[in-house]
Amino acid sequence: MAKVKVGVIGVGSMGENHVRIYSTLKEAKLIGVFDNDLSRAKQIAEKYGTQSFDSIDTLLRGVEAVSVVTPTSTHFQVIEQCLNSSIHVLAEKPMAPTLAESEALVALAKKKKRVLGVGMIERFNPAFKKLQALVKHDLVLGMELKRFSPFPARISDASVVPDMMLHDIDLALALSRTEVDSMKASGRKVRTDRFDECSVTLYFKDGLIAKLEASRVKPDKLRMITVTTDKAIYEADLLNKKLSSRGFDNLPEKTVIEVGRDDQLSLELKDFLHAIDKGRAPKIPGEEALPAIKIVEEVERTAC
Ligand code: NAD
Repeated sequence: MAKVKVGVIGVGSMGENHVRIYSTLKEAKLIGVFDNDLSRAKQIAEKYGTQSFDSIDTLLRGVEAVSVVTPTSTHFQVIEQCLNSSIHVLAEKPMAPTLAESEALVALAKKKKRVLGVGMIERFNPAFKKLQALVKHDLVLGMELKRFSPFPARISDASVVPDMMLHDIDLALALSRTEVDSMKASGRKVRTDRFDECSVTLYFKDGLIAKLEASRVKPDKLRMITVTTDKAIYEADLLNKKLSSRGFDNLPEKTVIEVGRDDQLSLELKDFLHAIDKGRAPKIPGEEALPAIKIVEEVERTAC
């Protein structure tokens, strides 16, 4: 395939990862970066052998596609500007702070016939992909999804729900066969004036129950999914890319299931570039990210 001319807008901690990976992919020609913090942009550009631009407009003139990795509160405005300039966009998650803004971006991408991918990175995690393939033909009865982190050095502009739990809501929806019928949510403010911890139970129309827990004030990092089906209990450790199963006959013995070691951000960015090249939808197009954003909004509205 021809190399896609690509740029990165917002080169903080996550944006630097996008730059690093684009700089190594054979599918990409990294044109440059823009960040409001011009000295940060210059530093990252030098580190990865690319150019820093002094405005979004000047960067957009030289690229076909960008990753938008600015703070979530700025996504709508920045992504809208890129799409209006007919540039393909990979939006870091969440695509925008609200469902209404996210829907407007999906509609704009459709109108402009541009690719709008969303950085739901865990969908590319090899342990999740294998888990999803294994339970595809089972009857999923229950799930537990836990995502813990120590308190981040930088205070986020969002609560733990869009910041972290969004991933697990999206994964729960991807593993389920029916829609969410109702939910219960509770949250706790510990270190910020937004929820730093949250527990949610999703009740699906077919009886499946998913329990989710997210916290950014735990001593250690953890990302675990347990799925109980009619055939087995599966445990996926997304952090360490490990998967195991236990049959009901041989409890508590675990069978380790081999999973690949591929880096999920590299897979996500390659998929975005291939989608542009082939004129197809990316694996997670904007519209696929909407149901999880809708649930995030409902959790934030109803959690007590
Ligand atoms: P960060 O604060 O480290 O970096 C954001 C950068 O954007 C900063 O360098 C800032 O100067 C710059 N910036 C701010 N406003 C800008 C604007 N209007 N135009 C250009 N640059 C601007 O934040 P981060 O942790 O890298 O998070 C960025 C985004 O990535 C957030 O939306 C976050 O939710 C998402 N994220 C996703 C994952 C994931 O797992 N997919 C992980 C971390 C962060």
